[in-house]
Amino acid sequence: MNIAQDLLCIAKGEILEDSWSRHIYSVDASHYEIEPAAVVYPADEDDVQRLCKYASSKKIPITARGAGTGLLGQSLSYGIILDFSKHMDKIIDIDNDYVTVQPGIVKGMLDKELKKRNKFLPPDPASGNYCTIGGMIADNSSGIHSLGYGSTISFLEEINVVYANGQLGFASPSKYDDKMKKLGELLLPQVHKIRNYYPSVSKNSCGYRLDAVVADNFNPQKVFAASEGTLGVMTSARLHILDIPAYRSLMVLGFEDLLSAISAVPAILKFCPVAVEMLDHTVVRSDDGNIDGAGCLLIIEFAGNRSISKVEERMRACKQELSDRCSMVEYASDEESINKVWGARKNALNSIMKLTLGSRKPIGLIEDTVVRPDILAEHAANLLHTYQENKVDYVIYGHVGDGNMHTRPLIDTSSTKEVELICSIANKVFAQVIKRGGTITGEHGDGLVRTGYIQMMYGKRITSLFSRVKKLFDPSFTMNPCKKIPCNDL
Ligand SMILES: Cc1cc2nc3c(=O)[nH]c(=O)nc-3n(C[C@H](O)[C@H](O)[C@H](O)COP(=O)(O)OP(=O)(O)OC[C@H]3O[C@@H](n4cnc5c(N)ncnc54)[C@H](O)[C@@H]3O)c2cc1C
Repeated sequence: MNIAQDLLCIAKGEILEDSWSRHIYSVDASHYEIEPAAVVYPADEDDVQRLCKYASSKKIPITARGAGTGLLGQSLSYGIILDFSKHMDKIIDIDNDYVTVQPGIVKGMLDKELKKRNKFLPPDPASGNYCTIGGMIADNSSGIHSLGYGSTISFLEEINVVYANGQLGFASPSKYDDKMKKLGELLLPQVHKIRNYYPSVSKNSCGYRLDAVVADNFNPQKVFAASEGTLGVMTSARLHILDIPAYRSLMVLGFEDLLSAISAVPAILKFCPVAVEMLDHTVVRSDDGNIDGAGCLLIIEFAGNRSISKVEERMRACKQELSDRCSMVEYASDEESINKVWGARKNALNSIMKLTLGSRKPIGLIEDTVVRPDILAEHAANLLHTYQENKVDYVIYGHVGDGNMHTRPLIDTSSTKEVELICSIANKVFAQVIKRGGTITGEHGDGLVRTGYIQMMYGKRITSLFSRVKKLFDPSFTMNPCKKIPCNDL
């Protein structure tokens, strides 16, 4: 079968099948490398329909791709890759409360357009200058300000998709297609079970977000958030947008060490900040190994619309409450200075990735756990203990206001013993997180790396529901296989 030859007759958009292009598309921001058969830049929705229909009839995997910044191998496949960032990257409409976009638009480009209207789409992944809205929906991405505003799933109002057989689909709370109706029939009798088996955390990208589909009203469009392109290929989405807050204020506090910083988080949350981020000395180092004399920093932002003095009042009260535990490292209330601090925070993962030295690498697997913030200190203490008992170096930072910790052990990938250690650490840490009612991934998703742990997270009852959802949407199992549903379950 010559796939590329067939695609030339099917698609209006460009087809790439040379070995260099396939090599470029064989990687994302994970450690995996899988060469696709061909890459297509779909010209429009019609192209997507024909390509999905072809892939399904030939049983070839079809995988949508935005910027390829997914950290878990979500956009990798040996089948056909649909890259939306070239042609399907437009803003379709902006009104007062909503923006409608094609999936390939880069978040940073959308931010610029929204800012002209004093609006914003709050989820702000550190990769925002590259990642696309399609990728953000499919991974249910979030970022620094998710504490104040929520993850991408909270903003998803409507979606247009192409199903595996090439049919068009549509979902919003008030209007949806037949497949979505069947989804409702499948899930509504299971509402209690779904509510019981989902974690009680503010952000979650593990498995399918069936809890959000049946929360309050029926929200069928939310089944696509965190679905990693396994149920359908999105061709446009309508998202809720907000007014940019009129006043913001930020402070950077220095703590002696990680645990004293994290222990302060519940007290900080009482003052309703929109962001509480942590940077440990393992990520930001000065010459003496500490950051401005502190072992760990918390960056805290407050926002409001009434007056700057009201915002600063809350910030001062918060600082006062913590006065015996930390020192003020920096303070800012003008946009330029605030953005400068956040710019440094957003560079954390980039800096960490540069820690790779030969085969010794910071490995992502337990890099995105979430527990309730009031038990985060206990979880962090256990994590540090696990690292110490295994004599493993590590890096740690994250969205601690959400209880979301980013951590990576530094592992020599040429040593079988060390590689086995990653799995044993993951089993231990995930078991602790699940026992504490948390999630194994708050924002990065499952992809190839974590799909095998989804059953550990939700148990058999919910994962068998996931398989039924997958069968309903993708009976040919061609939509980005091996993500969300393990390949051996297909
Ligand atoms: C340095 C760095 C920093 C990061 N920081 C953050 C962070 O702060 N917060 C966070 O949440 N994540 C973060 N990430 C992870 C990543 O950037 C996000 O998950 C991002 O939203 C992925 O977008 P993308 O366009 O690169 O998607 P891709 O990686 O290309 O794809 C991701 C998934 O989306 C699916 N997809 C893409 N388009 C469509 C479509 N049209 N229809 C159906 N499915 C589709 C793909 O099939 C795949 O499963 C970071 C990554 C890096 C490398």
